[in-house]
Amino acid sequence: MSGCLACKACASQCPIKVDVPSFRSRFMQLYYSRYPRPIKDHLVANIESLLPLMAKAPRLVNAATQPQWHKG
Ligand code: SF4
Repeated sequence: MSGCLACKACASQCPIKVDVPSFRSRFMQLYYSRYPRPIKDHLVANIESLLPLMAKAPRLVNAATQPQWHKG
């Protein structure tokens, strides 16, 4: 379920009309009401307000966000 983009392309294909994006969003809402969200979720949710701050230290942000395999 973590790879689902909630595009609803599968909703019309399912013979018993299981709405994957709908039950996925309900599950995620319940799950994150019990467990903390990952830091990356907060980062993505607040990216617009953080961008001016991130632009002040681009090397630091790039070093922190670049995957390690990309450098090899
Ligand atoms: S909504 Fe369905 S088709 Fe779209 S990504 Fe999620 S599971 Fe795949």
